[in-house]
Amino acid sequence: MKYVILIGDGMADYPLKELDNKTPLQVAKKPNMDKLASMGCSGFLKTVPDDMDPGSDVANLSIMGYDPEKYYTGRGPLEAASMGVNLSKTDVAFRCNLITKNNGILDDFNAGHITSSESKDLIDILNKNFDDLGTFYHGISYRNLFVFSKKESANLKTTPPHDIVGEKISEHLIQPETEDNAILLNKLMEDSEETLINSEVNQKRLNDDKKPANMIWLWGPGPAPEIDNFLEKYSLKGATITGVDLIKGIGLYLGLNNIEVPGATGYFDTDYSAKGKYAVDALKDHDIIFVHVEAPDEAGHAGDLEEKIKAIEEIDLKILGPLMEAFKDYEEYSLVLLPDHATPIDIRTHTMDPVPYVIFSTNLEPDSVEKYDEFSCKDGSLGIDVAHNLINKLINEL
Ligand SMILES: [Zn+2]
Repeated sequence: MKYVILIGDGMADYPLKELDNKTPLQVAKKPNMDKLASMGCSGFLKTVPDDMDPGSDVANLSIMGYDPEKYYTGRGPLEAASMGVNLSKTDVAFRCNLITKNNGILDDFNAGHITSSESKDLIDILNKNFDDLGTFYHGISYRNLFVFSKKESANLKTTPPHDIVGEKISEHLIQPETEDNAILLNKLMEDSEETLINSEVNQKRLNDDKKPANMIWLWGPGPAPEIDNFLEKYSLKGATITGVDLIKGIGLYLGLNNIEVPGATGYFDTDYSAKGKYAVDALKDHDIIFVHVEAPDEAGHAGDLEEKIKAIEEIDLKILGPLMEAFKDYEEYSLVLLPDHATPIDIRTHTMDPVPYVIFSTNLEPDSVEKYDEFSCKDGSLGIDVAHNLINKLINEL
């Protein structure tokens, strides 16, 4: 049996006034998703446990078959893995965003989607200026890493910057503010401002009327997790295809191969066709492929309805289409389509709602559902389940 799990990050949404109370999934032209729904069975998956934040890390770990309550230690260490940064027993990895601060307000969690070459220069400058506190590592664009060798800092409370756009920075500092490590790290964030604003990169960005990356934002701390190997747990050789470090990092901890796709950016401009082609190729020598597409989530965070619909249509045409064609090459084939969580346009951040999903399998009789969206899936035969049971369900029940 070959398995494909296709994840449209943040794809699910709520009905929108400007769409006559329909969701982006309901109005997007997505013939392949609807065909998959009519050939398969639908339902809902709960990807985030009630007492956890609905981050992509928690949700994707769950989709990959691991109970986040048991295995999740924070977002930072997952990104560290994807960047090839090894953590010692006392290390705590923080995600380090480059952000734009304006009049005390968190204006942009991604500093106007700063380029990777610009962020590389800024990370170098940060390392030169703050080498007594820890080490910064350059990732992609605004997504970078900070490693702090104080084990206790893993318990600090931090806030994802994409959740507080437009809010006062002083109200969302690392908590508890009186704890020694929190004092050091909050000061580091504050001091980064002066260092960054004087950089050549930012002077040029300001001249070009672009948002400056004038502060760092530390969040998602955690030590390296101890996770059972996917191949040992499920006896399947697996791979990930993604433009996002976080998902790559989860895969690497699980022992999945990450397949680099030229042109996969983790943004609207990602090369959807290349992802589809590489996914089909990867099936030849893997049992299971997790194909993750970030674009609908980015559109949700940006509140950009047009881009969200476009992202859904591109996934349908250029990734799902070729993957559905590929099933003709295999006697036994299962394909699951789902978002990791909803990122509704009106809310501009992730929600806890269970996500609509479809399983198509050569071994599964279809139910009566004929379209893939948040409402049609309610009539599906799969009901509601927790996401970390999905892989077992595929292996044992199909
Ligand atoms: Zn996500």
